[in-house]
Amino acid sequence: MAEKDYYRTLGVSRNATGDEIKSAFRRLALKYHPDRNPGNSEAEANFKEINEAYEVLSNDEKRKIYDAYGEEGLKGGFGGSGFGGGGFEGFSDLNDVFGDVFESFFGSGSTRTSRKNERRGEDLKFDIDITLEDAFNGKKLDFEYERMDRCDVCHGEGASSASKIKKCDYCNGRGRVQYSQGFFAFTQTCPKCHGEGKIITEPCRSCGGSGVVTKKNKVSVKIPAGVDNGSVLRIKDEGDVNKNGDAGDLYLEVHIKHHNHFERNKYDLLYDVKINIADAVLGCEVDVPLIEGGKTKIKIPRGVQYGKTLRLNEKGMPLPNSRKRGDVLINIKIETPTHLNDEQRELFIKLKESFDKDKLKDDSEKKDDGGFFKKIFN
Ligand SMILES: [Zn+2]
Ligand SMILES: [Zn+2]
Repeated sequence: MAEKDYYRTLGVSRNATGDEIKSAFRRLALKYHPDRNPGNSEAEANFKEINEAYEVLSNDEKRKIYDAYGEEGLKGGFGGSGFGGGGFEGFSDLNDVFGDVFESFFGSGSTRTSRKNERRGEDLKFDIDITLEDAFNGKKLDFEYERMDRCDVCHGEGASSASKIKKCDYCNGRGRVQYSQGFFAFTQTCPKCHGEGKIITEPCRSCGGSGVVTKKNKVSVKIPAGVDNGSVLRIKDEGDVNKNGDAGDLYLEVHIKHHNHFERNKYDLLYDVKINIADAVLGCEVDVPLIEGGKTKIKIPRGVQYGKTLRLNEKGMPLPNSRKRGDVLINIKIETPTHLNDEQRELFIKLKESFDKDKLKDDSEKKDDGGFFKKIFN
């Protein structure tokens, strides 16, 4: 086994002062601490190495022996237990260093992360259904729902009375405990009080000790005109409230109900108009309903083809923060009649005969155009 160079491990010179060693150790300990490198065995090994180096170099006695005799000298001098066997006198020193290093860096840092979700209540999301008319006009509505809210009986404390709250004896009310395992020092959430720093000896009967209960809540919501299907409204602080009184947000996803006349395409409204074959041939006028109510007449030109789209400008949905509106797109559907009375049948037969005559005439004209001979002789 190669001789360990504790100075190199800590990146300091052989005549480094105690302060230099300490600060080198802090820097490396922060870098390789297992809390910062979960599951990283290389970091763990490095962490162990620097601990071992610091153990020796921070202790004047051990440092002297190490300088004179190297690692072997230490083994001899300390009963041959080696490192990792425990029983180090310098353990309290190590804790001192970890005490302030990890208190300020890891301690508060990990608390922040672990309490992140508790800082405010959960966000809530609900769906609301509105009509297309509501989406057109905008709508104010009262939305009622249930959410978690702070318990009124214990004011979020979770105890049946103030005297039933005791300081946690395991962590002495700090919510965190520090422990050492071999060379490693860890700070973790107190397993007894789960970071609360206090123990409830008799829970509140109303909330069972959780500090929160389910309550009905009502919010007034203003849905903006022109709102699109699937839009999400955020209402701040109307989500779940945690026991500290901090609320998450409420999200409402707007769903627009199916409309009898219109289909929506962003800000345009699509409307199908069905006309009969005679109206398609001769042209006609039809009523088109309007989303704001009422209707308007539009002219369908004669000879209109199936699937033709006519546009009714600015009669669609309002654009947000604008006076403009989308259009109504009128899609022409021509219906082939399936039930005819005798008179209509007679007329269609006559119509067909007339079309057939036209077709014959057309065909004979085509034959007489000399196309065949032109092709041969040109
Ligand atoms: Zn309560
Ligand atoms: Zn505790």
